[in-house]
Amino acid sequence: MTAPNLLDKILAAGVVGAGGAGFPTHVKLSADGVHTYLINGAECEPLLRNNMALFDEKTPFLVETAHKIGSILGAERVTFCVKRKHVFQIDKLRLAGADVFEMDDYYPAGDEIIMIQEATGLTVPEGGLPLQVGVVVNNVETLYNLGRAVEDSPVTRTWVTVGGAVANPGVWSVPIGTIASELVALAGGETISNPVYVDGGPMTGTYRKSAKFPLGKRSNGILVVPSDSALVRYETMPVETMVRQARYACCQCTQCTMVCSRNLIGYELEPHKVMRAMAYPEQRTPEILKMAMLCSDCNLCSGLHGCPMQLSPRRINQLLKASFREKKVNFSFDKALDGPDENRPYRLLPSKRLVRRIGLARWDVDCPFMGEYAPLRVDIAMGQHIGAPCIPIVQVGQAVSEGQTIGVVPEGGALGAPVHSSVNGSVESVSDSSVVIKARRG
Ligand code: SF4
Ligand code: SF4
Repeated sequence: MTAPNLLDKILAAGVVGAGGAGFPTHVKLSADGVHTYLINGAECEPLLRNNMALFDEKTPFLVETAHKIGSILGAERVTFCVKRKHVFQIDKLRLAGADVFEMDDYYPAGDEIIMIQEATGLTVPEGGLPLQVGVVVNNVETLYNLGRAVEDSPVTRTWVTVGGAVANPGVWSVPIGTIASELVALAGGETISNPVYVDGGPMTGTYRKSAKFPLGKRSNGILVVPSDSALVRYETMPVETMVRQARYACCQCTQCTMVCSRNLIGYELEPHKVMRAMAYPEQRTPEILKMAMLCSDCNLCSGLHGCPMQLSPRRINQLLKASFREKKVNFSFDKALDGPDENRPYRLLPSKRLVRRIGLARWDVDCPFMGEYAPLRVDIAMGQHIGAPCIPIVQVGQAVSEGQTIGVVPEGGALGAPVHSSVNGSVESVSDSSVVIKARRG
């Protein structure tokens, strides 16, 4: 198969990064000058187990797909990056012919910039992309979706860990548009009286009061956590309160900078200086403010690990990033990087310690793959990727089949990927933002 053929198939199948911002994968793979293709199997967010479930169930298919994509990219090296502790999965990968880079068990080993530095010794420039150092990274579920796209099967399902305070945690493969609360019920329901629902992992996910939300191509976890945990406090505190606290409570101890995962790989990101700039407007220089753009959102700087004053520099960085994007402010980064901080090995946070610190140790358990789930109804979002949302092309009452295109990328070369029906059924409602489909049984 030629590269243009493959890219057409990937676009038609609607493959986007399964996790993160949902960057359309056909764009990412259309690059020249790639020497290394890495598969991110670090799965470093606490309690998530989807990657390991995919390795357990699909290793030969994943390895075959990785070599196929790697050869189309022209990569000399195709490597799976997996934590050393996953001995069983690493053995399976090697038996299937994969090259495996074994990673230490710390957080956030899955940050692709960090992974590239560890696996290749190359540092992606500040504000840059992996491609600038000749590397492309896909996560495990994206790779799985690529393999299906090669076989002309669109993205219609997502693999989701249902964990935390539920009776029977596990990993399910579910149609896109499944409502999260149905999966919590499938996992035996909540085992606590004050649940909050995390859409994603506990360190970087979105915290919600209700589980009545639909899952999309980027969904990888639904975790139930107690509403009185520190995690919930940091994620749900109004940002105005965070800004006020940054002004009055930050003692400039620099602990947040000492543990910052991006600072430790050599980036000029010093969150304590960003916090100081919130208190003293005269210090809000472009050199300080642009540091926020280098933040990966890993959350290590907050009171969960770094800050003794219970502040969250991460939330301040998020606020600044959103404001710069809205105002279309672009910064240039031209610092020559010296490589990782010499103290980095001593400052890494082991995953087990992180899970204890954030109060989730009792729910850090194995999650078996439980199979496929078939909901009665799906609510499929038109915006499941970076770029413009898709435009629905179906009408109420129309019969649709699984894999049929129901939303297309706006004309004019917009960045995006089409959306497909995830079930056989009939369309119940259509709006600019979603299509609801009632599944047909049998
Ligand atoms: S969230 Fe905090 S620790 Fe993580 S990269 Fe951003 S500033 Fe650094
Ligand atoms: S760790 Fe907390 S108190 Fe110390 S400099 Fe950072 S934000 Fe301020």
